[in-house]
Amino acid sequence: MSIRGAKFHGPTPPSDTTTNWVLAPLERGVVFACPNCGKTTIIRSARSRKLGVTYRCPECGFVGP
Ligand SMILES: [Zn+2]
Repeated sequence: MSIRGAKFHGPTPPSDTTTNWVLAPLERGVVFACPNCGKTTIIRSARSRKLGVTYRCPECGFVGP
């Protein structure tokens, strides 16, 4: 079983990159590579999207909505 946009392996549950909110099992989070450098994986929870929290790439400092 996989949740769209949030496939993870390992013991650590996925958490939002910016807010560190752990994604609920059924929460539709978004996982994508940094649009600027593509080196890092950005994780955004549905909650942070709803609140309009910006994310920041730890690699290149790119900030996005
Ligand atoms: Zn980046």
